[in-house]
Amino acid sequence: MEIDAMTTETVTQETTMSQEMGTDTVLSVRDLQTHFFTDEGVVKAVDGVDFDLNSGKTLGIVGESGCGKSITAKSILQIVERPGRIIGGEIHYRPRSSRNGDDAIDLLNLGENSSELRSIRGGEISMIFQEPMTSFSSLHTFGNQITESLRLHTDLDKKERFDVATDWLDRVGIPNPTQRMSEYPYRFSGGQLQRAMIAMALCTNPKLLIADEPTTALDVTTQAQILDLLQQLQEDNDMAILFITHDLGVIAEIADDVTVMYLGKVVESGPVMSFFDQPRHPYSRALQTSIPSMYTASRARLPSITGSIPHPQNRPSGCGFHPRCDSFMEGVCDVNEPILQKVSNDQDASCFLYSEN
Ligand code: SF4
Repeated sequence: MEIDAMTTETVTQETTMSQEMGTDTVLSVRDLQTHFFTDEGVVKAVDGVDFDLNSGKTLGIVGESGCGKSITAKSILQIVERPGRIIGGEIHYRPRSSRNGDDAIDLLNLGENSSELRSIRGGEISMIFQEPMTSFSSLHTFGNQITESLRLHTDLDKKERFDVATDWLDRVGIPNPTQRMSEYPYRFSGGQLQRAMIAMALCTNPKLLIADEPTTALDVTTQAQILDLLQQLQEDNDMAILFITHDLGVIAEIADDVTVMYLGKVVESGPVMSFFDQPRHPYSRALQTSIPSMYTASRARLPSITGSIPHPQNRPSGCGFHPRCDSFMEGVCDVNEPILQKVSNDQDASCFLYSEN
């Protein structure tokens, strides 16, 4: 649906979607389309993405750089930079205030600068960004920034906000947290900034956490501590996590379900165990063979995925993965575009290997 045309029709669709959402579903994304309108043409960064996320669960979104993972995440909070624009789809979110479970709201019906969306953004739904430097103002102390988030999204008084903030800095492993509260972001190392951002995202006890490559800048020990912390919080608060990464090792550790994206589309989705036991899409298989396993001989050369991701304005005909696919069928894969469909009890994939073309 065109966002500009959302009126009475949307209210009807909203009711229908709420009825379709499972009772535990926090977020339901349908046919999300986010395009970039550049001088060179339109880039379909997100092109009809669907997924559901339940409370207390983690959905991992994986794929190479440029597949649309981060733009999908930013679209949920409507913080896509221009010339990007969400041109269609639905993002149904069940807010904390939901009592009977049938009052989910379509976030795309809220204006991107509306007070409703601003109260959800950073409060009920928090995001950890890939680039910690861009998330902090260099003009304010770290303490001011984290306590401001608590002021906006909680009822805590000034002292309580300070205590909660220092406690969170301590929990993410920043030494001397009380002293660090009065320091400016430039005094933090890259890894400390990343951890500080994680503290800022978690201090409001979000119902949904969107984590975009949250541990990439961290050493393996700190990464393990942060993943443990996220899992602990999830157990304590039933928090849902949308975890975006290209690191399949992290996905194996933290995710319940996996969605694989390629060229702005979902090409496979299902439970994490099924994904690792029997990946269905040739792209998923290629991703898995390009990471080391405990059986890989030391110094062995790992297979890599043939070719590179096509330029987004030069999308291949038919299946977008066909120039790189080792199961390519001439006259089929380069002519028609496969759709996402059920290929086993619990897995979906978009590939002609599972259909009659
Ligand atoms: Fe490979 Fe064809 Fe399947 Fe695309 S549709 S992934 S090219 S086999």
